[in-house]
Amino acid sequence: MYVKKFEELSKDDIGIAGGKGANLGELTQAGIPVPPGFVVTAQAYEYFMDEAGINDKVMSILEETDINDTKALQAAAEEIKKIIVESPIPDDLVMYIREYYNELCQRVGEEDTDVAIRSSATAEDLPEASFAGQQDTFLHVSGDEEVIEFIRKCWASLFEARAIFYREENNFEHSKVYIAVVVQKMAFADKAGVMFTVNPSTGEEIALIEGSWGLGEAVVSGDVTPDNYQVDKRNNEIVNVTISDKKVMYTNDEDGTSVKIEVPEDKRKERVLSDDELIQLTEMGKTVQAHYGEPMDTEWAFEKDMLFLLQARPITTLGGAEEAADDASSDLGDVLVRGLGASPGMAAGTVKIVLDIDELDKIKDGDIMVTTMTTPDMVPAMRRASGIVTDEGGVTCHASIISRELGIPCVVGTGDATTTLVENSGVTLDGKKGLVFEGISQTKEEAPVAAGSVEAAPIITVTEVKANVSMPEAAEKAAATGADGVGLLRTEHLMLTSGIHPGKFIADGNEDELIDTIADNVQIVADAFYPRPVWYRTLDAPTDEFITLEGGENEPREHNPMLGWRGIRRELDQPEILKCEFKAIKKLHEKGYTNIGIMIPLSQSPEELKQAKALCSEVGFEPHKDVEFGMMVEIPAAAIMIDEYIKVGIDFVSLGTNDLTQYTLAVDRNNEFVAKHYSEEHPAVMKLIERTIRKCAEAGVKCSICGQAGSVPHIVEKLVEFGITSVSSNTDAIADVRKTVARAEQKIILDAARKRLE
Ligand code: PEP
Ligand code: MG
Repeated sequence: MYVKKFEELSKDDIGIAGGKGANLGELTQAGIPVPPGFVVTAQAYEYFMDEAGINDKVMSILEETDINDTKALQAAAEEIKKIIVESPIPDDLVMYIREYYNELCQRVGEEDTDVAIRSSATAEDLPEASFAGQQDTFLHVSGDEEVIEFIRKCWASLFEARAIFYREENNFEHSKVYIAVVVQKMAFADKAGVMFTVNPSTGEEIALIEGSWGLGEAVVSGDVTPDNYQVDKRNNEIVNVTISDKKVMYTNDEDGTSVKIEVPEDKRKERVLSDDELIQLTEMGKTVQAHYGEPMDTEWAFEKDMLFLLQARPITTLGGAEEAADDASSDLGDVLVRGLGASPGMAAGTVKIVLDIDELDKIKDGDIMVTTMTTPDMVPAMRRASGIVTDEGGVTCHASIISRELGIPCVVGTGDATTTLVENSGVTLDGKKGLVFEGISQTKEEAPVAAGSVEAAPIITVTEVKANVSMPEAAEKAAATGADGVGLLRTEHLMLTSGIHPGKFIADGNEDELIDTIADNVQIVADAFYPRPVWYRTLDAPTDEFITLEGGENEPREHNPMLGWRGIRRELDQPEILKCEFKAIKKLHEKGYTNIGIMIPLSQSPEELKQAKALCSEVGFEPHKDVEFGMMVEIPAAAIMIDEYIKVGIDFVSLGTNDLTQYTLAVDRNNEFVAKHYSEEHPAVMKLIERTIRKCAEAGVKCSICGQAGSVPHIVEKLVEFGITSVSSNTDAIADVRKTVARAEQKIILDAARKRLE
C-alpha cells in the first residue's frame, strides 16, 4: 500500500500514485518500455503525516495565514516545510523504501543506481485535479539515504507558497491533497526527442519524430533544432528526413548531473536516427496510441540500443498547429509551446514566469507574461506585457477576455508553459494560432489587434454588428471600429477591477458608493457609444473569481463554480446588489444616457425573469417602459423555454454561446484538458441557437449573440441565415464579422432573386 512498483499500477490509480505515477504504471503494464521504478504512494505520505503527529500543527499554521500577504505566506510555507523535513519517518516505511530501491538496483545491475525523484500531487475527492506547475523533480539521486531525503523534500514541496496559494484559490482543502513520489531509474540517453503519433495538423496517420543527441532536455527545452522525421504508420515508410545542425546537447557529467555542452563538430550534422530506429519508434508509437485509444504526444530516449518512453500524453492541439509551425519555420524559431489562440497578433519579448502574485513586479514593459492562469489582481501587470501565455484556460477564460480587450496577443491552455518556457529567454508568440516560438522575431512582429478602424468598416449591414466590452478603458477603441453598439457589457470586470467585492459595499452600508462605482464605469462606455445602444449585463459573479476581491473571503468554496452560485440565480439571492445595479442604470438614464439597456445573465426559468423585473420596478425603474429589458440565453433550459420567457415579456435576447456550449455538451469551457471537445458548432448547440433565433423572430423580439461564436465569421454566416438581428463580437473581429454579415445578407437577397426567376 505504501510503496508500489510501476508494474502494480494502472491509469486508475491516480488517487494512489498521482497522475505521473499512474501513467508510468499504465505504460509499464501495457508492455511499453519505460525506465523501471516505483511510487511511494499518497497513502505513505498520509501515514507519515499521521504518525509524525504534525497534521494539526500544519493545518493551524495554514488557518492563521492570510495567503494574500505574500510575506506571511512565504514564512508559513518555510515553517511547514521545516516541520516536515525534520519529522521522523516511520521505521516500516523507511524499510519499504529501502527494500524497493535495493530491488531496483539489483534489477538494473547497478549499485546505488541513479534515480529521478518526482512529486505528483493528488486530491482525495478529485484525483484528476490538476496541480500544474507544482511537480518537483530531483535528478541523479543515488543511494538509499539520498533517496529518502529527496522523498521527504517532495512531501515538503506540497507546502511551497505557490502550491498553498493555488489550493486556496482553487478551493482545494489542504488536508485532502496528498502527494505521491515517483522514483525512477534515470535514462542516460545517447539520443532523445519527442514523437507525435499522428500529424497534429491533419490528424493523418504519420508519426512526426524529432530527435537530437544526448538527453531529451535539449529538444524539450528548445535549446536545439532537432532532426525531423516523418514515418507513414500505415506501411512504416519513411516519408521525410530533415537533418539539422545540432549545436548543443545535454549529457551527464562525472557526478551525474546534466550539463549542456557543445556537440562535437563531426556529429553536428550527422543523422541521429537510423531507419531501423525510426521504425522501432513508430511501432512503439502505434502501441501507445492503440493502448490509449487516441493520438499521443510522447518523449522517448535511446540508451545505447535500448528504446525507452519517458512521457506520454494525449495531443491537445490537434489541427492547425503543424501548419502554423511549417509556415513559421522559415523565419521563426522552433515551436516551444502550443495552446489555444486566445487573442490575435504577434508579440515578441522576454519570458517572465509568474507563479505567485508577489512576482508581478518582474513584468516590465514589453515582457511576455507566462503564468498558470491570470487573476483580476494581475490586470495591471497584464497591461505592461506585450504577450501573455497561460498553462490553463480556454478561449473564454479571464486571460482570454482581458487580453483581447487590451489588444495583447495571448495563448492559453498550453498545459505546461510555466515549466517548459525558460525565464529570461526570448520568445515570439502567435496569438491567433496559439503557438510560442523560440527567439525574438522582428520580421513577424505586427501591431496587435486594433482591427477595424472607422475607415475599415464603411460597409452597411441591416444586421447590426456590435462590440463586446468588459473594461471601460477598452470602450473608445471598440467604438472607433464603427460598431453599432455594445451587445454585451460585462459588469464582472468592472467589479473585479475595482478590487472590492460588491457584497462588501452592502455589508459596510456603502450602497451609494456601489451605485456610483457601477454608474461611473458604465458611463464611460455609454459615452463612447452614445447614442448607439449599450446592453448592460447584470452581475454574473462566479465565486472562484470573486474570492480574491477585498471582502471576497466569504465566497463559498464550490466544487464546480461554473455550475454554481453565479448569474441571475445568485443575484436573486442577493437582491441588494441587483437593486444597486438597477439604481445605477436608472441614475444614468436620468443623466440622459437612455441608450443603456439591461439584460440578465444565465437564467434557467422564466420565473427568474419575472422576479428580476419586479426588483427593477421596485427601484422605480419600469422594465420596457423606462428601460429596454432583455436576457441572455446561456442555458439549454432557456433556449428550450424561450416561448415562456417571451410570454413574461422581453425586449431582446442575446445568445451566450460560451456557456450554452459548455452546458449543452458538459464540457467545462475553462478546462484545457477537454478543450478539444468544446465546439459551438456541435449540432446540438446549433439547434438550440437556431431555435432561439427563429422563435424570437416569430415573436418580433430582437435576437443577438455575444458569445465567442459571434466572433467566428463562418458561424456568423449561419446566424444571419437563421435571422439574427445583431451580432456582438470582440473588437479585433468586428471588421471581419461585418464583411461576413454583408456577404451573408447579399447571398440571401441573391438567392431570393434567383428563386423568383426560376
Ligand atoms: C457567454 O456565456 O457566451 C457569455 C457571453 O457570457 P460570459 O462569457 O461572460 O460567461
Ligand atoms: Mg456566460
